[in-house]
Amino acid sequence: MEGLCSVRIGTQIELKPRRPLGDTEESDMHKPGSTPHDRFLAGERFADGAQFIAGRPAKGTSGRTHAVVDPATGTEVYTYDLAGADDVDAAVAAAREAFPAWAAATPGERSDALHRFAAVVAERAEDFARAESLQCGKPLKLTREFDVPGTIDNIAFFAGAARHLAGQSAGEYSGDHTSYVRREPIGVVGSIAPWNYPLQMAAWKILPAIAAGNTVVLKPAELTPLTSLLFAQAATDAGIPDGVINVVTGTGKEAGEHLVGHPDVAMTSFTGSTAVGKRVAEIATATVKRLHLELGGKAPFLVFDDADLDAAVNGAVAGALINTGQDCTAATRAYVQRPLYDAFVERTAALMETVRLGDPFAPGTDLGPLVSHAQRDRVAGFVERARAYARVVTGGETPLGELADGAYYRPTLIADAAQDSEVVQSEIFGPVLVVLPFDTDDEGIALANDTPYGLAASAWSRDVYRTGRATREIKAGCVWINDHIPIISEMPHGGYKASGFGKDMSAYSFEEYTQIKHVMFDNTAVVRKDWHRTVFGDR
Ligand code: NAD
Repeated sequence: MEGLCSVRIGTQIELKPRRPLGDTEESDMHKPGSTPHDRFLAGERFADGAQFIAGRPAKGTSGRTHAVVDPATGTEVYTYDLAGADDVDAAVAAAREAFPAWAAATPGERSDALHRFAAVVAERAEDFARAESLQCGKPLKLTREFDVPGTIDNIAFFAGAARHLAGQSAGEYSGDHTSYVRREPIGVVGSIAPWNYPLQMAAWKILPAIAAGNTVVLKPAELTPLTSLLFAQAATDAGIPDGVINVVTGTGKEAGEHLVGHPDVAMTSFTGSTAVGKRVAEIATATVKRLHLELGGKAPFLVFDDADLDAAVNGAVAGALINTGQDCTAATRAYVQRPLYDAFVERTAALMETVRLGDPFAPGTDLGPLVSHAQRDRVAGFVERARAYARVVTGGETPLGELADGAYYRPTLIADAAQDSEVVQSEIFGPVLVVLPFDTDDEGIALANDTPYGLAASAWSRDVYRTGRATREIKAGCVWINDHIPIISEMPHGGYKASGFGKDMSAYSFEEYTQIKHVMFDNTAVVRKDWHRTVFGDR
């Protein structure tokens, strides 16, 4: 008998041969330690256009262009042709054509492809880090240590998870039949991503979808298309078949709405603001699509009076300022029990003042600019209006001197704002932390729950009963105890309330990207079954 172990039973999908890594221009363009001014050359890299359809780059045909701007300097680094409806149609057609073979591939085949994909992204890690830093203004230490490794880990996780799509066990539930559940891919998934973590959001949208056998058309934010395009190219170079991952870079109104409403798109997966999410939901509902919404957040940071104050202060500054505060789970509202309040305000402000703003590509930089000048002005608007009803303890200004041309804003702490004020209730999405006092534990938990959002929260205390209560009573998709921000591929991410529904990352994301089919076999071979009497005749 032939060695069965070496025979792959399955559809034998043909992976494209993987391009040798040393053979790519991307592989070693940027090494760690290259000069600070050695920024990513977007214009040269994407000369063939900023769409990625059926395995190759293409130019958008909307007739309109968009500039990618380096927010650290305000200079345009790449102007591209925006996608129009025709480009979205072409991408959806490519995804539709790729779907049957990809869906029929065995889990092991999809897993192999994802392992190869992880290896290619790892090989190009520095390139991804620089492109992400350039388009977002993120310090290189953040993209090198968080965005890019997190993405590689995510690919590796889904390479494993692809082989473990669990379903309910089969059984004879009626007595006369055997039932089992098939978990099937949905079809073409239309995904829309925001600009705050473009690479990670592309990964979170694409990976569970393709691991489960779907194909994807991703629309990144107009401001930040570069790493989504690199990601799709890396997948193709790793051998993932053409059309499994497509990227259209167009506006939300034109390309985004066309993708959501497209009749050949079976599911919409959206990450972005709650306001746009509502519009997306309207369009998706009208075409009866599966819908997954990851929306805004306004995370509370609850400090009980027995907390380790140093740990809470360090956690608050890191949790509020990560990614220049443009993080949907960032610590935005610190509620501090009265005995610790004054010390918390003073020490948090002092620590914020030590954070070094600067060129994202320079080694000593802690905090880069916001993603755009418009976003910086929006954040400044919240702080300026707050001066009328609250106290700006530190920050609240745009730095001058050599940072004046960038979209920078100083880390800002606001105290004495009322619970119902704009800075406490609205998502600011910048380096701004608001701090409020509370007296009783009941009050602290009630305040933590008192916004429309419910994405993430943290509670700080040495008392296991207090923290346990916080984990049960805070309405949010994630509650950290004595930390704020860390995420891991194995655990789900998603919101309660106006923060949306559905989960990214982890095996739970397969609930969004698969549909469940009940299969039922009659085991009796009886022609006239007992239940037929409810339709004709007697027993
Ligand atoms: P946004 O809602 O303005 O845009 C998100 C995406 O939607 C972009 O690609 C945009 O082009 C597209 N879009 C805009 N209008 C559209 C329309 N009418 N139809 C279809 N698509 C449309 O959000 P943003 O400013 O890019 O990102 C910041 C927001 O994202 C914040 O609210 C943040 O909390 C949220 N976010 C949430 C999560 C999460 O996991 N819950 C993660 C990251 C960011």
